[in-house]
Amino acid sequence: MKKINKSNEPLDSQKRKKSKPIICYPNEFIKIDEWDNYQKARLNLKKIDEIIIPPREARCFSVSKKNFFKIESIEGPQVGDLNIFNQHNLHEKFYSGKTRAIHGTHLSIGDRMWSSFPYLRPMTTITHDTLDWYGFDDDGASVHDVIGTRCDPYTEKLINDKDYHFCCHSNLTKALMNKKKLSFSDAETYIHDVLNVFMCTGFTKNTHQYFMKSSPVRPGDFIEFFAEIDLLCILSACPGGDCGSEHSSDKTNCYPLKVSIFENNSKILKNWKPPDISNYKNLHDF
Ligand SMILES: [Zn+2]
Repeated sequence: MKKINKSNEPLDSQKRKKSKPIICYPNEFIKIDEWDNYQKARLNLKKIDEIIIPPREARCFSVSKKNFFKIESIEGPQVGDLNIFNQHNLHEKFYSGKTRAIHGTHLSIGDRMWSSFPYLRPMTTITHDTLDWYGFDDDGASVHDVIGTRCDPYTEKLINDKDYHFCCHSNLTKALMNKKKLSFSDAETYIHDVLNVFMCTGFTKNTHQYFMKSSPVRPGDFIEFFAEIDLLCILSACPGGDCGSEHSSDKTNCYPLKVSIFENNSKILKNWKPPDISNYKNLHDF
């Protein structure tokens, strides 16, 4: 928490504080050319696969470009931690921080998940979200955040001096390890900050600390994505359940999550092309 030391305050402090905020990344450049066609195409999809993520575990799934997938709450309120990679290159992975800088603290319909440097292109576009009614509540919280990281055993040890083995970080790593036949330590280097699916979070108004509260998600709610490139995804059903009390424990009620993958044969998107990687070619002036 930031401490304020008034003894260092200059005489013109109020004037300095009144400079105008400038949006760092104006929205115009993220205009989605085929948005209307995404919305038409999603109405006529064929389901080709379904994966159930058991509570306190993670599973991998692949989605080909131009197809759709959705993550759905079943049985009870449950939060999921999502990692995504380029299916053909694990180094290109979801960049939570840049996505936050572009779209804001929480994602919903029309927002995109951007990939890491030097690629920086949309990996998915969110095409539907049944929790879009939530907006921001009186605590300043919303759902589907890109401000948290993922629950992990290291922070748990640091704060509570407790060994807990089913954090999303561990679950995601184990799923990737099994999928790609990597050692745990090699797989761990690829695991990254997540999209916190269905998680309800914010920053406290007084201390600006990260907080969570019970997710408003209920069985039948879902968030749906369009795959802009071939994706390898990993989803962990967080040991925090709905994250209304604590995470990193076996005490909380946890429920499975359902992933459905849909083939898109729609002619509506016949002229659609996957986004190119960044065309920055200056190579940092070397
Ligand atoms: Zn978690």
